[in-house]
Amino acid sequence: MDGYSYLEKRQYNENGIQRYLVENDEESVMKEIGQELSLEVCAERLRKHGFEVDVVSTIDEAGSILRQEIEREKPNRISYGDSMTVKATGIIDELRCEQSDRLIDGFDPSVSREVQLERRRQALLADLFFTGVNAVCMNGSLFWLDMIGNRIAPIAYGPKRVVLLVGRNKLVETPDEAVARIRQVAAPRNVARHPGFKTPCAVTGVCADCNSPQRICNTWLVMERCCPKERIRVVLIDQELGL
Ligand code: SF4
Repeated sequence: MDGYSYLEKRQYNENGIQRYLVENDEESVMKEIGQELSLEVCAERLRKHGFEVDVVSTIDEAGSILRQEIEREKPNRISYGDSMTVKATGIIDELRCEQSDRLIDGFDPSVSREVQLERRRQALLADLFFTGVNAVCMNGSLFWLDMIGNRIAPIAYGPKRVVLLVGRNKLVETPDEAVARIRQVAAPRNVARHPGFKTPCAVTGVCADCNSPQRICNTWLVMERCCPKERIRVVLIDQELGL
């Protein structure tokens, strides 16, 4: 993707169907590269790949699914990976207020960085794990790019049950678009919400494939199938959410 200038643009027709456009700065043209990025079509392809999938209209409905999961699974230990969409449901604040220690909170601001990192290690053995996705490809695969791996490791293995919340803005047509979206859109925006990062994208807003010690783009996870079948539940939300 070096030298590839990428700008995310989306349009919706009168039926709310999303069309996906990429702007190539060199040619200064808008090229339509996607057909219909339909949540329902995407859901069907994910189901064929072994994921349990819901399509919901709002973040509130997604939050209800998380609460139903807690009610049904009755987990002794719950944890989560950094996700603006999961936080937007209010579930993390609710779990923090519980009179129990079942939340393994790897982002608790009241404890030291060392304690946070140890909790993220413990999260690998949680019963239930919530997080988001960086990009969902219309071929039915999921993409992430992580800094230290605490978010992607429990998705791949460990927790008995994983629930992923996904805004419609995360849908892309091809694996190449997934990589481009993450490196050129999601990662620089993610850096921007963490003051103090001194990566090139923090200054310019554009990825320079840096070698900074604060580089957040270190380990990829691409999940093509869910094994065991339906261990992972993907909730596609018909709203623009997260980065
Ligand atoms: S941290 Fe480095 S590699 Fe990641 S988006 Fe920023 S410039 Fe690119």
